[in-house]
Parts: sequence; structure tokens; C-alpha cells
Amino acid sequence: MIRRKFPAIAPLILFFLTLGITVNAQKIYWGNEVPLGWNGQWADKFLTVAEKSGYERTTSSEEVLEFLNTMKWNSECVQVINVFTSELGRVCSALVLANPRVNSPAEARRSGKPVIYLQGNIHPPETEGKEALLMVMRDILIGKSKHLLDNQIIIICPNFCVDGNDALTLQQGTPHLIGSGTNSKGFNLNRDAVKLESTDVNGLYKNVLNPWDPVLFFDAHAMDRVKYAYAICYATCNLPAASPEPRDYIWNSLFPAVRDKIRTNFGLETFTHCLSDEENWPPTIWSHDKAYWFIEGKFLANAYGLRNRMSVLVETPGHPSFERKIYAQYAYISELVAYTNHHGKEMMEICRKADEKVGNQITTNAESGRLRNFVQGKYESWGKVDVLAYEKNIPEYIPGTSAIRTRPGTADGPPQVIHGVEHMTKPVGTKTAAVPSGYLIPKSLDFIIAKLRLQNIRIDTLKTPLTVSGEEFLVDSLRHERWYGFSMTRLIGRFTPAAARTFATGTFIVNMAQPMANLAFFCLEPETPDGYAGWGLLDPFMTGLAAHGHQMIYPVFKFFEKIN
Ligand SMILES: [Zn+2]
Repeated sequence: MIRRKFPAIAPLILFFLTLGITVNAQKIYWGNEVPLGWNGQWADKFLTVAEKSGYERTTSSEEVLEFLNTMKWNSECVQVINVFTSELGRVCSALVLANPRVNSPAEARRSGKPVIYLQGNIHPPETEGKEALLMVMRDILIGKSKHLLDNQIIIICPNFCVDGNDALTLQQGTPHLIGSGTNSKGFNLNRDAVKLESTDVNGLYKNVLNPWDPVLFFDAHAMDRVKYAYAICYATCNLPAASPEPRDYIWNSLFPAVRDKIRTNFGLETFTHCLSDEENWPPTIWSHDKAYWFIEGKFLANAYGLRNRMSVLVETPGHPSFERKIYAQYAYISELVAYTNHHGKEMMEICRKADEKVGNQITTNAESGRLRNFVQGKYESWGKVDVLAYEKNIPEYIPGTSAIRTRPGTADGPPQVIHGVEHMTKPVGTKTAAVPSGYLIPKSLDFIIAKLRLQNIRIDTLKTPLTVSGEEFLVDSLRHERWYGFSMTRLIGRFTPAAARTFATGTFIVNMAQPMANLAFFCLEPETPDGYAGWGLLDPFMTGLAAHGHQMIYPVFKFFEKIN
């Protein structure tokens, strides 16, 4: 999908001027600019820490809880849920905003309204999403935006990485103190969507995503110093194994509509979450890969698409002022929830149909062994676009201080328009595997079963022996590769047909005729780069076999047909 970057307003302005009508061209704010008084007028008790400190400080985990408590005591539209208790004993709370208030997931379902989940601070150095979420929550609960609860239920978890938020260090810009990028155990929580080794993400799945089943998952981030001129950039699930309809809807309908509204109502330019090939000038590529938004399920917003649901991840550039980054997040989130208030029902319907389609495909096509899905992918270009960027973005010390700013004249004011840049954000599958009627998993792999259940995948146990035909994966070699800080397992091998195999009572069975089939496929296929095999969860089992002189066989069996 290629969209024009600017409305063609110049000829229109000329047209109206000749008619004697004056038109105000939309003012766009660049660099650190924000409109005066953009955050409104509030009594002291409703101000955030960022506002009270002149945008020099961010809210601590305790202060977040105090703010949520203030909202609770001043609104009838709030229910509090505890997402998890951290390793260091901090509680991560989320507010459920609904009018009338809902007290449970069952009440939410009965209301028929879509649930929208908004999350901030998974990476505490990128704290502006947290601050903006507190402000959006305030607008809705005690300000001008209560109507945004007419057609939807909004769950806001502003401070997801509660321990990292308070592990403060000094930084060069604002806020002056920032948290750590990981939780107290050193886990990067936005790499844990498949492996599920952190308390934090376990809690998110168990207490929010599984019971409340949000139609949309929103995750707020920030980047480092960049050369592009956008106030905020956006992405959605890019996994070729995910149902295309929810992703296509976000890409074709939600993204362009929200983008236009932010330009009109907030004076900000936004675009896809990418970086250019900045070593070349002018750049020729605008790519998700350059921004580390890889085709991988470890990111929460990607994995969520495997559930036939929608997701949006946004990132502000890192170098502007804290106030500017909060303004950009505030603008995006405000227009996002305005959009979902109008279109949430339509979004639910798309997701419901995707659920149905995924299950039906298995029922009608999996037995033949010819149903296939993607285990790997890459980005291709949608075509050429124009990108807004600065040739230079130079850091320098603020005179008389030890703090760093962007040198005036670089990365501020109106940017250059770079024409004809390849828009490398179209995910395409590059390798497929057969989608089975089901997976059979030995009893000894019960730790895998716990992870699958946490992913909301339905699993049964054989009550009597079952004979099936299908295929198994013979592993010729198993090797480990470093990939962006992680040791990943690569299995080299091949599938081979297996006729009439009998599995004992007690074997776990994942019947794939369920809405979560794409997620089960992603986790269990041996060739998915960051499925369970990729994360090395099955290494001990396979190397144990090899130690006894057997061929390594991937322990999860794919069956197509039940024989008896
Ligand atoms: Zn981040």
C-alpha cells in the first residue's frame, strides 16, 4: 500500500485564494516543537510527574500506582487488574476503562464491545508511551474524552516493566534519569513473546490477553537518534504465518486513517516504523529490517497477530525532547482510540471471521497433507515512496553543561523530501511446511505444554492409544547461532512420511482445528527460526537421543490422518 505523503493542498489554496477565501494550511510541528498548552489545564492532583517537573522527570512505579489510584477515586468507569507481581515484588497494574464499568472478562464479553489493550514502558528507557497513556487515561476518565468509552472497553497498562522503570541511571537528555531496558532478571520483555521465560510476560498472557481477548494490542516504544523527520512511526504484525486479514486491515484502513487525523488534529507527520540506509545519502531504502523490526515472533506485537488479532507498535525517534516524544505518543494513542471507538465492531468481525477461517481450513484441508503455511519470510518493496529526512543529525553538548542536544540546524525545522525510496515493509513468506491436523507431543515434554497453554492453545491428552499417519522431521545437524544477543538453535533436516504410527495413552495432542492453529504451528514447527526449536527448548531432548547413537528426530510428531 503506497500513500501520498502530503495532501495535494497547494493547488487548493491557490484556488480558494483566487475566490477570495482564506484557508489555513495545516501547521506541521518539526524537531522539538509542540503546540503551546497541548496537554490542557488540570488541577494539581491530576498532573503527571512529567508535567509537574517541566518534562525533566518520568513517573516512578510507585507514582504510577498513585496516579492510577487517583483515577480510580475520581471515576466510576474504572476497574483495576493486577497484571503480575514482579521479581522484586512490585505490582504491575492495568486499568480497565468502561462505561458502564465492567468487573470481569465475562462482563466485557456480555457487553459486546471490543476490548482495546494499550501498553507502555516495556522498555523503560522509552518511557514517553507511559507518560502519554496516563494523559490519555485522564482525558477519558475525567476530561473531554469520555465518549471514547461509548463503543469500546480500553485496558491501559502504562508501566509494563515495573522493575526496569525504577532501575534508574543518568542520561544525556530528558528525562534526566531513565530506567533499564530489561526487567530485574535481565530479560528484554519484548523478546519473550514465544519463549515466555519472564514473570512479566507470563502475567500479561495469563491475566490480560487470554481472559480479555483484546481485538487490538498496542505497544509504545522509542528509537535512538535517527535522521528521519517523523514524530512517530508505526508497524503491525509482519509474520507471514499469521492470518492476513487482520494485518491487512491495520495496514490498509487503520494506519492511513490515523495518520491523516494526526496530521490534521495534531500537526505531526508520521509514517511506517523504518530506518533508511543512512550510510548513503540520499538514502534509497526505507526498511523495517533497518529498524530491527524483523520478521520474528519474539516481539509481542508480532506474536499477537498469530492469534488472528490486530496489533500496533509505535516508536518515536530518540533524540527529540521528552515533551515532544510524549506529545507524539499522546497524538498517536488519542487518534488510535478515536478510530477504534468508531471501527471496533468492524475490527472484531474481521478477527472473528479469521478465527473461523483458520479452523475451517484445518478441517477441510489438513488431512490431505497439502495445507501449507509459512515458516520463514522476508520483506519486499511495496514500491517507491517519498520520505522526510534530515541529512545530518549531529549531537553536541549544551554550552555550560554535560548534557547533549541536537545541534541547532540539524534535524529540526522542515526536512528534506527524499524521492523514490524503496518501501521495504511488505512481508512475504519464503519457506512453507505442511500444516497438520494435529501435533502429538510426548508426556516428557510437559514444560512445552505449559507454554502452549499459556498461549491460549487448547491441548488434550490421549485417553486411549491412537494410530495416525503423518510426517516426522529427521535432524541431520543442530547448530547454535548468535542472533542479536541470543543463542538460537538451527535445525537442518528434512520431513519424511510416517505411516501408521501408534501413540500411547497420555500423549499430548494439539488438535489444530482451533482459532490458535497459526500460533501452534509457529511455536511447534522445527524450521521456524524463533519457534520452540529456534529458542533451543527442545535441544536437550534431541541431543539426548543422539548421544545414544540414534538419528536425531524432532520430538513433536505431525499427523494428517487418524487411522484408529
Ligand atoms: Zn523498545
